[in-house]
Amino acid sequence: MAKILIFNVPAYGHVNVTIPMTHELVQRGHDVIYYCTEQFRPIIATTQADFRIYPETELSSGNFSKLAHNLANVSVMLTNVSKILVPFVIDEIEREKPDLIIYDNINLWARIGAYVTQTPSVVSHSVMIIEDAKGILDIRDGVNMLLTALPKVPALLRNRRKLAQSYGKEAVSFPLFPSCGDLNLVFLSREFQVDTSFIDDTFEFVGASINPQLRNDPPLELHKDNRPLIYISLGTVNNDNLGFYQQVMRTFSGDDVQVILSVGKQVDIAELGTIPANFQVYASVPQLQVLEQADLFVTHGGMNSVQEAIYYGVPMVVVPQQIEQMINGRRVRDLDIGQVIGDHPPYGRVDINRLREAVNAVLSNPNYRREIDRQQKTSQNAGGFTRAVDLIEEHLTTESRGMAV
Ligand code: UDP
Repeated sequence: MAKILIFNVPAYGHVNVTIPMTHELVQRGHDVIYYCTEQFRPIIATTQADFRIYPETELSSGNFSKLAHNLANVSVMLTNVSKILVPFVIDEIEREKPDLIIYDNINLWARIGAYVTQTPSVVSHSVMIIEDAKGILDIRDGVNMLLTALPKVPALLRNRRKLAQSYGKEAVSFPLFPSCGDLNLVFLSREFQVDTSFIDDTFEFVGASINPQLRNDPPLELHKDNRPLIYISLGTVNNDNLGFYQQVMRTFSGDDVQVILSVGKQVDIAELGTIPANFQVYASVPQLQVLEQADLFVTHGGMNSVQEAIYYGVPMVVVPQQIEQMINGRRVRDLDIGQVIGDHPPYGRVDINRLREAVNAVLSNPNYRREIDRQQKTSQNAGGFTRAVDLIEEHLTTESRGMAV
């Protein structure tokens, strides 16, 4: 049996995909230690892996939320905290002497730690690989991206230079994000991924990683009747959008639909005003349970949410709040499993007539149902967390054979 250290970042979208895989590794007898921030202790406890916390830094899920509208800000934070977290990771690796480390593809400190200690690594990709992909951005998207990223470039390069001085240029070779390991597990189906020459034979697409028993949330009282059930959520990071929630309440209040609205923990439900009779509003819901019954998902297009919707066969209307979600939304549109609206900057603003039109179109056009059923089969056949663990075990065997030669 192997000793495995897992290093993640404090964001549910990145942690949730690894939970079923971690639980399965523990079930198969591996000795697993999982590193994250204190907030994630309860969900990681469900895997029965040992849990350890990172030293105090600016790394927190709250800061992810604050910065996530501009991904360049997130990159600067990740390089900042690496200055403290790389020595921590190296110490942990030297003390625990793992056979393998697993880390998220934006976890720069674990990537540098793996490089410095020459420890075999598997990288968990909870997002689409867009490096080198052609044709996913139009001119408007590109200009906006440059304008938002450019002011951050000096800080990013300065931090990178400092890390290169300490750990060597190779440790921080481009691209910084996504980082890649000896094996790259991507938690989406191959069909959803856009084409890019960046993907080589170290990449394996295992589809959604779903095990509802490992979600901590208390079950929801959900009495579905014969009206269409619409589930609306902007995820756990870019969800501070009171105006959007008020607009959807105005739009669908009194319609012949049942709505479950998850507003996240940054918005005070009391500020929403009167909740329409056909709405149930929560700070957080057991998303997998809701998707099992939903007819349509109005989502921000976070990759977990999109893959979970595909796994449960729920067509989508994507309302992206930032660029990565916009790319996922356009992929949903291109695969005919839903529509995307507001997919040009500034993200997060939605024309309510377009939302209504998109919701009606997706609910009434059988083409979306047919295509989502097809994608659901592909996703369920991709193997999920069980295949991820099979691949990790194969990789461990190859590594140990390599070392014995
Ligand atoms: N989620 C949930 N309940 C909610 C909202 C979200 O369980 O009320 C979960 C959802 O199932 C998914 C994750 O939080 O696994 C959100 O990840 P995603 O990548 O979709 O978006 P992010 O929050 O990272 O933007």
